[in-house]
Amino acid sequence: MITLDNIKQMVAKGTLCPYAFNTYELGPQGRQRFCCVWKEQALLDEDGNQLTVNNSTIQDAWDSTQLNQIRADMLDSKQVKGCERCYHEEQSSSASLRLQESHRILEVPEDTAYFVDAINEFTNTGKVKHIRRMDLRLASLCNIACVMCTPDISTTSAREAKKILDKDQRFAEFTNYKPIFENEVDFGLDQKYMQDVQDNIHHVNKIFFIGGEPSVMRSIPILLQYCIDQDIAKNIEVQFSINVTNLAQRSVELLSHFKSVQITLSIDGVGKVNEYIRYPSKWDKIMANLEILMDLPEPFWFSTAPVPMIYNVLHWHELMQFWDSINKNLMIGRQIYVGPCDLVDPPFLKFQNLTPALRPLAIERLKQCFDLEMYNTNDTISEKTKYMISELENNTFNEDYYNQMVQYSQILDKHRNLNMHECIPELTDILYS
Ligand code: SF4
Repeated sequence: MITLDNIKQMVAKGTLCPYAFNTYELGPQGRQRFCCVWKEQALLDEDGNQLTVNNSTIQDAWDSTQLNQIRADMLDSKQVKGCERCYHEEQSSSASLRLQESHRILEVPEDTAYFVDAINEFTNTGKVKHIRRMDLRLASLCNIACVMCTPDISTTSAREAKKILDKDQRFAEFTNYKPIFENEVDFGLDQKYMQDVQDNIHHVNKIFFIGGEPSVMRSIPILLQYCIDQDIAKNIEVQFSINVTNLAQRSVELLSHFKSVQITLSIDGVGKVNEYIRYPSKWDKIMANLEILMDLPEPFWFSTAPVPMIYNVLHWHELMQFWDSINKNLMIGRQIYVGPCDLVDPPFLKFQNLTPALRPLAIERLKQCFDLEMYNTNDTISEKTKYMISELENNTFNEDYYNQMVQYSQILDKHRNLNMHECIPELTDILYS
């Protein structure tokens, strides 16, 4: 019998991660996985083929030999291929997704009990019976083209990539564009897959809708309505990620029936910085929508998951000041939780590609964040900022990535007719020197 104390030790000193024991993820283009930070594209079958919704069921992925081996390796404190991002981050902070999720679970008695049961079930039977959490990227439909997004995830990015490629073939080096990505693919509108989700959802207590852009996806209201009709909505916490360019009225109406609803605001900068990153969104519109959303009563609550990258690392402090000042005017319990995410791809847009000349300025500005009130109460944000500083102090500058970032930015700015100098002047001086 593995006790809670054993598990706490394995989390603290080993590689144990709840994602392998509680989460099913539908990744981009129907690929079946279990964690959005895990670096492999999909789980594989025994012949090495990627498991997708077209060739396998959710249970095939959940009970795959590969995922069961990952679970066994984690319990043996072995490092898992694909989890390197978490291990690397844990060398300088405790803000890795592995530790964040573990701490969250160990604070909620019901989730802790499930985690302990799942691990003991696995050690006794070699399987975990029920999925507890679903992270669903149901569709690629998106109404904007974020600078770090890829055509397989956003229809708007795909259509923009096609236009750029028609004029400038150098862009082929930076995009995974395929004509098929221009079409809206919504796996939730596929009856067979939706039935599979519904068959597996009855033990789930958390659903995370990721994009594309969930506020415009057509199949999400269908799944929400199913949960309401089955009387299970009251047991389920939903995390609903939105870019705040619209109010997602139909989904919001349905979400009000759920146990709790975490609206995660995808905002990566203040004003022009966000407009540059989340093109072609408009800051004024986002602020107007935010004001309306913030009036939503319980069960709604709010978080934001900014992504540190080359375009916002010099202005990260402004974003933190922005949320800090908003939180000061909100009642305790209604405050916006700031929990940064990692940029998985493309690697040349990671904040670590900042030039050695600009790193001292970024570090100085990042250090200012520790004076903010929010940093006294939010461990994740202070640990993530420590990690960013440590990376800028110690990470070797990669000139190849830097050159890719310069060329990518120049092609994109030209196509979008954007003046980066208005948004990120410090970076422009280097990019266009
Ligand atoms: S990548 Fe990190 S969060 Fe994901 S399964 Fe691996 S250790 Fe867990």
